[in-house]
Amino acid sequence: MEEQDPPQGLEVVFRRLIGATGPISVAHYMAEANAQYYNRADPLGVTGDFITAPEISQMFGEMIGLWLADQWQQAGKPQLCHFVEFGPGRGTLAADALRAMGQFQFHPKVHLIEGSSALRMAQKLSVPGATWHDGLDSVPREGPLLIVANEFLDALPVRQIVRAEQGWRERVVVHNGERFLPVAGARPMDSAVPKEWADSPLGTILESNPAAAGMAYEIAARLKAQGGAALFIDYGYAEPQTGSTLQAVRAHQKVDPFVDPGLADLTALVDFAQLKQIALAGDVDCHGPVGQGDWLMALGIAQRAAVLARGQPAKAQEIMTALDRLVSPDQMGALFKVLAYRGPGWPVGAGFGGAA
Ligand code: SAH
Repeated sequence: MEEQDPPQGLEVVFRRLIGATGPISVAHYMAEANAQYYNRADPLGVTGDFITAPEISQMFGEMIGLWLADQWQQAGKPQLCHFVEFGPGRGTLAADALRAMGQFQFHPKVHLIEGSSALRMAQKLSVPGATWHDGLDSVPREGPLLIVANEFLDALPVRQIVRAEQGWRERVVVHNGERFLPVAGARPMDSAVPKEWADSPLGTILESNPAAAGMAYEIAARLKAQGGAALFIDYGYAEPQTGSTLQAVRAHQKVDPFVDPGLADLTALVDFAQLKQIALAGDVDCHGPVGQGDWLMALGIAQRAAVLARGQPAKAQEIMTALDRLVSPDQMGALFKVLAYRGPGWPVGAGFGGAA
């Protein structure tokens, strides 16, 4: 094999891998690209690639903290309780939520599940005293869990299958000498297609997210065994749908997901219908999805914004703009959705339309 420059970045690694062993699945491509991407540096914020709700305003994490404190109070204030966040980014949501919980004298133990060492460093500054984990497995099995995952499931790798001439095939990534391209692979996937989609037109793409499903099953089992609740907040769809939702964002612009792997944030929409099915299968109650805007308004975010604005008149305009970004249906309010799981005996959380 000719040895040129040492490998530079994932593009070279992928080209070699594909050259040596053939196409890689879209899921493999997305998983490696995001692992590299999140490990590189902190991608969040105005100067980074994208901005998330907790980075828009402290009000977002505060509302989550209020929701969790309300759950804890209604459950009779269990003494041992764990706050668990998946993919905490800079730790901003956790810091804001813990401060809000503290106002109710609720001080849960804090567990952060984070794969990126760069982001763990940032989290150490914003959430001192937390314990870090690679997954739920090492989180204590005693005491209720209050779990939050904001814009986490959308970063997990999606598997895609595509209807080709010969039948359904896994969607894979090749390199044509110039660039990476998604194409239909060789392996038949007909048996993986739900009956209702089997006769879809040529080119139809079906997405699934085995990693997200696996985590949701694990969370449901833990809530059933230990009690507690989980909040999933993400952008996604509530009814099954077809089509690729894979997208890449770099420096706040949408870019081609198959260009410069590892340098852009890859995401796919979250399938909330699947999260509901998993709750059913795992025997935990599930509420939502409801729009992020409605949910935050039901929790009183507008009142909180008014209080903050009165306290800092110079920032009033900024606070109201942030509120609008979080709740307006034409901004994050409708596409972003909130879904909750609750363990046996735990209350229906505020904002889900039930008796709180
Ligand atoms: N929740 C934060 C950050 C969202 S970005 C916010 O709202 O601002 C996605 C987060 O999930 C990052 O912290 C990223 O490092 C983490 N992440 C992505 N894939 C992961 C995986 N497979 N395991 C653990 N953490 C992961």
